[in-house]
Amino acid sequence: MRPLIAHIRLNHLRQNYQTLKAMHGGKMLAVLKANAYGHGAVRCAQALADLADGFAVAAIEEALTLREAGITQPIVLLEGVFEAAEYALVDQHRLWPVVQNAWQLEALLAHCWQHPVTVWLKMDSGMHRAGFFPHDYAPAHQALSQSPQVAAVVNMTHFACADEPHKNMTAEQMAVFDLAVADLPGDISVANSAAILAHPNAHRHWGRTGIALYGVSPLGGADSRFLPVMRLSSKVFGERVLPPGEPIGYGAAFVTPQSTRAGLIACGYADGYPRHAGTGTPVAIDGERSRLLGRVSMDMMTVQLADHHQGIGSEVELWGDVIHINEVAAAAGTIAYELLCNVKRAHFVYEE
Ligand SMILES: *Cc1c(COP(=O)(O)O)cnc(C)c1O
Repeated sequence: MRPLIAHIRLNHLRQNYQTLKAMHGGKMLAVLKANAYGHGAVRCAQALADLADGFAVAAIEEALTLREAGITQPIVLLEGVFEAAEYALVDQHRLWPVVQNAWQLEALLAHCWQHPVTVWLKMDSGMHRAGFFPHDYAPAHQALSQSPQVAAVVNMTHFACADEPHKNMTAEQMAVFDLAVADLPGDISVANSAAILAHPNAHRHWGRTGIALYGVSPLGGADSRFLPVMRLSSKVFGERVLPPGEPIGYGAAFVTPQSTRAGLIACGYADGYPRHAGTGTPVAIDGERSRLLGRVSMDMMTVQLADHHQGIGSEVELWGDVIHINEVAAAAGTIAYELLCNVKRAHFVYEE
């Protein structure tokens, strides 16, 4: 068996959920889109089923997978439907669709609902990606709340810069949103993970936590309040000692400055490890910090072995407990979200 393993610690997931819900103070959606940020949506939903107030996914396909697995909690469709016909399935499976534009609204009102639907109505408070402009929001809200087919409207918006607390933008978006919903009934949902951590004035009724649920701080660096859920590890399956001045890997991009013990490990960019991670990106070998040497290949990469105790069979942590995924993301010029979502071909081992 190729020894690349994604250990998924479901107890960490549960603990993070409880921590985030307590920090937020209201109800909390566990965001499971993109296969639970690469962790496995069904297993994560099952692990949280007795704790979570609800789940959120991007689209109906993801919600149906959860329903088929027996998940009965509310599930919010964060992007709403992509075609009007999906409302029949939304109705049948009692999903909670986001409505973020006029055609989604009209199609929802035109659908003949068997069960009155809970709608998450999205405002564009400044991010300018999706949602009704503030001046169009109240009419949309009224159209929904006047319909006997609508059980409830949750007022929501999304922040562009919540992970950059020094910027004013979150406070500005909050002010725009608060003004536009001042006279409108319904629960409010505005906070992603970063807002839960960094913006206590932007919590309200429903939080929506994704990245922090998986144990990663959206503010960068490590945060001991959150326990890393995924630990990605592999093993050294080749070793060699090279004299000074010898290249390693594609492009001969790294040249040994001195006599070097190099270990070959089973993990590459086809597994989702970022190819842009260069020499120096941290790894941990048998629990000791070390570094990557040269370029990441498709199926393999080379790491620096520290001493004669390390060699074939040594365990290498790519990220998890010793190596924080935010360090790897920084070294690769990306964000932990992308690294987690990209993990594939690894053997997933779930630990309760
Ligand atoms: C993905 C998503 C979230 C979760 O964001 P995190 O930064 O991972 O906490 C919250 N709200 C919406 C609308 C999203 O699309």
